[in-house]
Amino acid sequence: MTDYLQFFGAARYVTGSKHLLEYEGKRILFDCGMVQGPRQISVKANSKLPFEAKGIDAVVLSHAHVDHSGSLPRLVKCGFAGKIHCTDATKGLLEVLLPDSAHIQAQDAKYLRKKGQQFEPPYDDEDVRKTLKRCRGSSYHETTEVLPGVTVQFFDAGHILGSAMVLLTLGEGSARKRVLFSGDLGRKDLPILRDPDPMPECDYLITESTYGDRLHPPRADLQDSLHRLIEEANRDGGRVLIPAFSVGRTQNVLYFLGNLISEGKIPEMPIYIDSPLSTKATKVMAAHSEVFDEETKAMLASGHNPFFFDGVRYVADVAESMSLNSLRSGVIISASGMCEAGRILHHIKQSVGRPEDCILMVGYQAHGTLGRRLLDGFESVKIFGKRYRVHCRVRGMGGLSAHADYQEMLRMLRPLAKTCRKAFVVHGEEDPALIFAGRLEEAGFRSVEVPVLKQKFSI
Ligand SMILES: [Zn+2]
Repeated sequence: MTDYLQFFGAARYVTGSKHLLEYEGKRILFDCGMVQGPRQISVKANSKLPFEAKGIDAVVLSHAHVDHSGSLPRLVKCGFAGKIHCTDATKGLLEVLLPDSAHIQAQDAKYLRKKGQQFEPPYDDEDVRKTLKRCRGSSYHETTEVLPGVTVQFFDAGHILGSAMVLLTLGEGSARKRVLFSGDLGRKDLPILRDPDPMPECDYLITESTYGDRLHPPRADLQDSLHRLIEEANRDGGRVLIPAFSVGRTQNVLYFLGNLISEGKIPEMPIYIDSPLSTKATKVMAAHSEVFDEETKAMLASGHNPFFFDGVRYVADVAESMSLNSLRSGVIISASGMCEAGRILHHIKQSVGRPEDCILMVGYQAHGTLGRRLLDGFESVKIFGKRYRVHCRVRGMGGLSAHADYQEMLRMLRPLAKTCRKAFVVHGEEDPALIFAGRLEEAGFRSVEVPVLKQKFSI
């Protein structure tokens, strides 16, 4: 029987990760992510699955980011009755991220109805509950049977909490085939998480290529950069707003602030985490110390908790969030990371006109977002439909990207060239994906494909 790989998402694109493996007539799905992007595209793409949900026998999930996991409840709603395999920490994050995704769908539906458009959310809370019951968590490196004759092993990808490279082993002896899916590849030396594991040998590789054509700037000492920016704000007597993604970035910034305070480099100051999702995500992270790097483990053993230390306060409700309007010094970390929604908008509205305040961007700001306009130095910006002049300072701090650049990816992938019969490049815009495919060939990979949507290959 011929086995196949077919690519149903993140093919010459970065979101909607879904890759289908057919082995001896059984169908296993790598990831089941949502398409993110302009509403006209994403609503349509996420309301329909490109395959029969009932025909899928199992899912193996690389990590909890919604562009990899967000369509799982849709899959379950449409009749998927198998198991979803992931790491224990990913399971913990799904319990937070999937209900949040259902909530966003419901809000979108309400908004579109008001505009006279019909939009049926792809799933609701009940579908999320049923989905979470199907999840099976494993430790890294543990071998788990997915279906008869098929096992899965997860290797640390160092990208976000719980993130994994997924190795499926099909059959045994001379008929054995090993298919490795990179998921999203992380970087060495990021705080809290361990560095990526060496990649295991494989016969077929599916690799991401987000930064397939780019290098990150040389890494300045992130803690030093933050130190300087906080000192500057303290000197001016203002407050610092940090828009940050709930998973990863929020905890990284908190980790650095905690270090600076405990090393006596900055004074103890109020630090508010003002986002319900960031609060929940931080609690999940704190509960999974088994995946921390040695430095963070040592820190915990010495009595310093990087997420809960003196001065840190997790804002509970809207009333408390509103009371922060009167806060004139200290730090507020809030979502969303690109200042497009969430409580951060209310705080920016308060600070934008005050020269003593600082908005510190710690993540990528896409074109067209408020975050990007602020960072680009626009003289005025619109917030909730009203125009405000920008008098506060806006600073950017790079270097916290959770994605490996092409050199870092090649360093990890190069040892696989010897055994790999075919590599598939996914999860990158078309140009970076094609460029990265060329680099893999130069690195000695015999056969490299950049699949287009729905393209099918025998393996
Ligand atoms: Zn990711």
